Amino acid sequence: MNLSNIGTIKGLLNKYGFSFSKKLGQNFLINPSVCPRMASECGADSSTSVLEIGPGIGVLTAELSRAAKKVVAIELDERLKPVLSETLKDCGNVTVLFGDVLKLDLLQIITEHFNGEDIVLCANLPYYITSPILMHLLENRIPVKSITVMVQKEAADRLCAPVGTRQSGSVTVAVNYYATAKKLFDVSRGSFLPAPNVDSAVIKMDLRATPPVDVADVARFFKIVRASFSQRRKTVANSLSSGLSLPKEAVLSALEASGIQLTARAEELSLSDFEAIYHNL
Ligand code: SAM
Repeated sequence: MNLSNIGTIKGLLNKYGFSFSKKLGQNFLINPSVCPRMASECGADSSTSVLEIGPGIGVLTAELSRAAKKVVAIELDERLKPVLSETLKDCGNVTVLFGDVLKLDLLQIITEHFNGEDIVLCANLPYYITSPILMHLLENRIPVKSITVMVQKEAADRLCAPVGTRQSGSVTVAVNYYATAKKLFDVSRGSFLPAPNVDSAVIKMDLRATPPVDVADVARFFKIVRASFSQRRKTVANSLSSGLSLPKEAVLSALEASGIQLTARAEELSLSDFEAIYHNL
């Protein structure tokens, strides 16, 4: 079954009375070159299994099934159950689980289904919760070797920006702490049904074995990072002081001890600057 073909998709949707949910970020891939490329670049192979989020009607899932040892796909929308039973009926190495990826116990799912195998994550993410999903995967240290995801182009630029540049934000610092990220390729809005209002890009994050900075209390480190970026137009001194409810003098002396200009903005700071602030604050 050609799941990138608009006629096939519309036929399936009619057969099962399915209509797209904007709320669930349902934009299905119709560009036939994207899924094979994602499947080949995500690192899936005969000894590596894949965790997928949001299979939709299974267009990427079927491609991953061909490339990988095994695929476990997590889908929130139970209306897709009969559709996926039909589209993936010949994919014997695929298991679809229904639930919210942010609420399911992913560590338990991985233990149950993958039995210590090498795993990569590959997904065309629902755009309304891209950052929460990525942060959830990274902060819970989900044991995958890499994360290859389609996201909005702007989000891709922010996620892959080097820390210390204008495009960086707290999510950039988080990604750099847990992984090294790079953009693989752009995908135009016309590659989806229905077409979203924005273009997309596929990025790949290779998870680091050890973080590049030494902070014992990771939650506090990220509280400081988020507070630093909370008012982007202000100096990091003002943002930290109001974001963490600390006296301005205490923040200024921590910045001084860290060798950071008192007029610096968060987007100008490197990962080791944040590490120094964490230790001096
Ligand atoms: N993989 C398909 C494709 O590329 O055509 C569909 C991708 S679509 C952008 C995102 C999918 O994520 C939808 O099928 C949607 O129902 C599902 N989804 C949305 N929120 C979810 C959540 N919290 N947990 C799991 N799946 C979710």
